[in-house]
Amino acid sequence: MQKKDELYAGKAKSVYATDDPDRLILLFRDDTSAFDGEKVAQLEHKGMVNNKFNAFIMQKLEAGGVPTHFDSLLSEQESVVKRLDMIPVECVVRNISAGSLCRRLGVPEGKDLDPPTFEFFLKDDERHDPMVNEYHIRAFGWASEDEVEQMKALTFKVNDILKQLFLDAGLLLVDYKLEFGRFKGKVTLGDEFTPDGCRLWDAATRDKLDKDRFRQGLGGVVEAYEAVARRIGVPL
Ligand code: ADP
Ligand code: UDP
Repeated sequence: MQKKDELYAGKAKSVYATDDPDRLILLFRDDTSAFDGEKVAQLEHKGMVNNKFNAFIMQKLEAGGVPTHFDSLLSEQESVVKRLDMIPVECVVRNISAGSLCRRLGVPEGKDLDPPTFEFFLKDDERHDPMVNEYHIRAFGWASEDEVEQMKALTFKVNDILKQLFLDAGLLLVDYKLEFGRFKGKVTLGDEFTPDGCRLWDAATRDKLDKDRFRQGLGGVVEAYEAVARRIGVPL
């Protein structure tokens, strides 16, 4: 597989074309950002940890029946993925209240949510990723009614698989964000699943082991990601 031009440099990953029109290379950089790019830093080893973390989770999801873009690990910080036509919305499921839900609704952090909640956000940093609903998604043509249903069903399926996987390692999956795209017309999970895009708490102590350590200046960010990776069995 030959790496070609850089197509896009995001806040944490860069995307490269390859000689295969159906495949891309994702480079997981050490860059970290929060608050829609307002707070940024370089965290040594984060790219490597997240690349391997993502590969491990994507393979578990694929085995559990979720179609994903993951193809193979290429290097310490790179993976080969299917080239998707991305749907510009973020799908968020929450099992426990935290983050923007608490800010928006004034509810305390740490409340069990039964049933888990589902939210869509538009991927638009300039507008701070506003919340949208399925009518906006259909009316503006970001995705069809059927694709909306599939994104919801797959996002909940991910919850069934990953809540248990993390619980088996003594970790609570508080919430997470997924992005989907189309591969030859089929709704497919893209982007990443890493502690950059989810909240994970130690089940016994409720210590935060995810990007909130960076957002809240708690320190030990990559150390926490590595600890989670070791606990769930990611080969680093
Ligand atoms: P952001 O764009 O939010 O700054 P990243 O730094 O993670 O995010 O950049 C990665 C970009 O690649 C995102 O815009 C994401 O939607 C896109 N992407 C992820 N997976 C794929 C894929 N399989 N095919 C095409 N684009 C993808
Ligand atoms: N999230 C993300 N990218 C975003 C927004 C949110 O990965 O652009 C993740 C975030 O890490 C958390 C979940 O989605 O796991 C819910 O985030 P929330 O809406 O609470 O926003 P935040 O408080 O992170 O701004």
